[in-house]
Amino acid sequence: MSIEALVENPSSPAESTSPASAPYDPTEFDASVMGTYGRFPIALERGKGCHVWDTEGQQYLDFVAGIATCTLGHAHPALVEAVTKQIQTLHHVSNLYYIPQQGELAKWIIDHSCADRVFFCNSGAEANEGAIKLARKYSHKVLEIEKPVILTAKASFHGRTLATITATGQPKYHKNFDPLVPGFQYIPYNDIEALENAIADLDEGNQRVGAIIMEPLQGEGGVRPGELEYFLKLRKMCDDTGILLILDEVQVGVGRTGKYWGYEHLGIEPDVFTSAKGLAGGIPIGALMCKKFCDIFEPGEHASTFGGNPFACAAALAVNQTLEQENLLHNVQQRGEQLRTRLRAIALKYPDIFVEVRGWGLINGMELNADIDLTAVDVVKAAMAERLLLVPAGPKVVRFVPPLIVSAEEVDEAAQILERAVEKFAL
Ligand SMILES: *Cc1c(COP(=O)(O)O)cnc(C)c1O
Repeated sequence: MSIEALVENPSSPAESTSPASAPYDPTEFDASVMGTYGRFPIALERGKGCHVWDTEGQQYLDFVAGIATCTLGHAHPALVEAVTKQIQTLHHVSNLYYIPQQGELAKWIIDHSCADRVFFCNSGAEANEGAIKLARKYSHKVLEIEKPVILTAKASFHGRTLATITATGQPKYHKNFDPLVPGFQYIPYNDIEALENAIADLDEGNQRVGAIIMEPLQGEGGVRPGELEYFLKLRKMCDDTGILLILDEVQVGVGRTGKYWGYEHLGIEPDVFTSAKGLAGGIPIGALMCKKFCDIFEPGEHASTFGGNPFACAAALAVNQTLEQENLLHNVQQRGEQLRTRLRAIALKYPDIFVEVRGWGLINGMELNADIDLTAVDVVKAAMAERLLLVPAGPKVVRFVPPLIVSAEEVDEAAQILERAVEKFAL
């Protein structure tokens, strides 16, 4: 099929396969793939916009979007066209050479953020690893700290590599993987006093705080927005001391919250920040941005074979240009308001089940009553039975992260489905 035909009818390749109707048999899969995930018993084989279809031909409304990743939904013509053209031209070359798409994407990010320089990699964890390395070198070279400490928040999530699980302030991610990476300490999120105490307590001899890493809104930790007052204070403390402020924008960056970056909700700019999930709409990419001390890495000190290749960068450029051209930030704000209003009405109707609805733009969470047995997974399963895909954020929070192109009708439909699913749990 030609590019032109593919672009005009992007979902035709999947549609042209014979209509499936068999449930997916996971026997071989489970015998071949490491069991690192608890999986729901469906296999998805096709998507269009905010909908996906499983191997039985069953349609689902997708409010997971690959976990806050498929910014433009599925099979968006702009993304299909960009990756199709790029793979037919040049999909990968080494960073030994100049990659124009990488330069163009970096320029785009710089023009749409506080960043002055960008480094590209392939995932959120890898971007955070880069930020941690940058923080360590900055602490040694600029702050002249012999044993630098990075402060990180309890209930945070920063990835699954050894350094990023250490940065993750949740013991369940550490279990069985010790010894962890030295040089991290945990403080409660949104707690100014604890922050001040930690910085003061650590200021002794050759050990001091060199950097702080925080999510603007904690995603995996239960959809907990950062508080303005806290982040203003955090920024001021970093300015006064030279401590590097790193924000992990992996889940909330690139329009997810109704602003381009999560930090825009908090009245501050970070020194360093990271992006990944939504940046290329589902094509693997990660990015490390810095505003200060951008020349801290010398050639050879940090690298990635795949990082910023033409394919991933062409995808990210298409996603970001579409965000702007289709004014999707406005859609995210409107649909977010609509969704929270609907979810709050459901929470009010079932006060024994739900305690709170919170979020920014199109990252929202419904917290379940801690005193009842019902878990987020129970609600996700019930919604899936009604053909709505949702994802837990911790044991007691149900997360809603649809594609940023979601329509008013789709938000309405999701709320109706959720209400049907929840009725079953009403006492
Ligand atoms: C998902 C996530 C990561 C890890 O990203 P991967 O691409 O899975 O490595 C890091 N930080 C935050 C805030 C995330 O949500």
